[in-house]
Amino acid sequence: MQISNGLPATFNPDAYDMIVVGAGYAGSVCARRVAEGAGFRVAVLERREHIAGNAYDYVNDEGILVHKYGPHIYHTYSERVHEFLSRFTKWTDYQHKVLANIHGTLMPVPFNHTSLKLAFGEDRGEELYRKLVDTFGEDKKVPIMELRQKNDPDLQEVADYVYENVFLYYTMKQWGQTPDQIDPSVTGRVPVFIGDDDRYFPQAPYQGMPEDGYTVLFEHMLDHDLIDVFVGVDARDIFTLDENNVSVCGKVYGGEIVYTGPLDELFNLDLGALPYRTLDMQFETLEQDQFQPVGTVNYTTSEDFTRITEFKNMTGQVVPGKTTIMKEFSHAYEPGSGQTPYYAIIDPKNRALYERYLERVQNLTNFHPVGRLAEYRYYDMDAVTDSALELSDEIISCHA
Ligand code: FAD
Repeated sequence: MQISNGLPATFNPDAYDMIVVGAGYAGSVCARRVAEGAGFRVAVLERREHIAGNAYDYVNDEGILVHKYGPHIYHTYSERVHEFLSRFTKWTDYQHKVLANIHGTLMPVPFNHTSLKLAFGEDRGEELYRKLVDTFGEDKKVPIMELRQKNDPDLQEVADYVYENVFLYYTMKQWGQTPDQIDPSVTGRVPVFIGDDDRYFPQAPYQGMPEDGYTVLFEHMLDHDLIDVFVGVDARDIFTLDENNVSVCGKVYGGEIVYTGPLDELFNLDLGALPYRTLDMQFETLEQDQFQPVGTVNYTTSEDFTRITEFKNMTGQVVPGKTTIMKEFSHAYEPGSGQTPYYAIIDPKNRALYERYLERVQNLTNFHPVGRLAEYRYYDMDAVTDSALELSDEIISCHA
């Protein structure tokens, strides 16, 4: 596949039936699907120096495959998504497990039978577990709100423990909130799993890691005769929008535009910036085989960072005597600072601001905002793939 660095002076938007802004899941899935489904010639513009969006991974100087923008674990319930992505990679059989470091003891999350015994001791943990089984049955995920509603002191004790030790401090660090700012409806949804299965996605029929990494998956997806990829290109430098048209390189563009960047940036944040949380990622390579027993450990009662990822535990890569870990520190995102906007802070005020930006592009019938930034929401990789496939279907059927 050919990826060009920058736009050539000869770049002619009219040579393309579709321009895609952003080479993450949203943009790359649309590019591939529409090139195949409608025979469109597609230009993909990406402002970073690489493809794959936030799923980008690379081999670091110590020879270890790491995820630059945070650990990405693939799982899906959708056969269509899985079939589509499986055209571009084989998968390992990795099953994600998460442990919480609670006052120095590692316990499975979601909180389960094992965690109860670790937290309350063998006998009391078993007693509480039996109470949960008798009340709700086995192999159930029960939100702590439901435990509270039973008005039973034992169930209340479990709910309080999980709230205090798994949820509260972690959420404060992640979102920069004080306990009274935390929405009770969110708190209530924190689950306890009544069972022994300690996988994070026990029900997902498809899960794993791409055998050669995410970036290779994207290389295969974008490798098509009708797709040209240009990295190091910020679409804002060549796009102008008015109420009825998008111009590219100074001329009204008649093709389709799939836009996966932030909407506020397109208008120089003139209504105000859409708020995000960002993450500082601190990578460290240690001279040892393994640092922790699983891919991610959440620090839920101590430390300033939220979690530690150990990449080899997720990718299955074998590199003796060395391992790379990464700590995540969460804080408010400052527009224009060069930070990555990671998590949209979704509340009614921010949503209303987003809607005002969205209104401005609604007359542009060939302009399609899609993806986590353009829709200002949290999306897992499979969900954004699904949305991009749906949008591609619409574009293809309009041109059939
Ligand atoms: P992105 O991947 O962000 O791609 C958008 C692209 O558009 C970017 O490359 C950006 O540079 C480019 N762009 C923006 N503006 C412009 C412009 N003006 N010109 C040119 N290019 C532009 N999902 C999971 O399923 N499992 C996980 O384990 C998981 N872990 C995550 C961990 C973290 C820390 C985070 C933050 C997210 C995680 N996700 C996970 C979610 C996953 O990252 C998203 O689903 C996915 O990245 C969304 O793809 P996208 O294409 O919408 O956005």
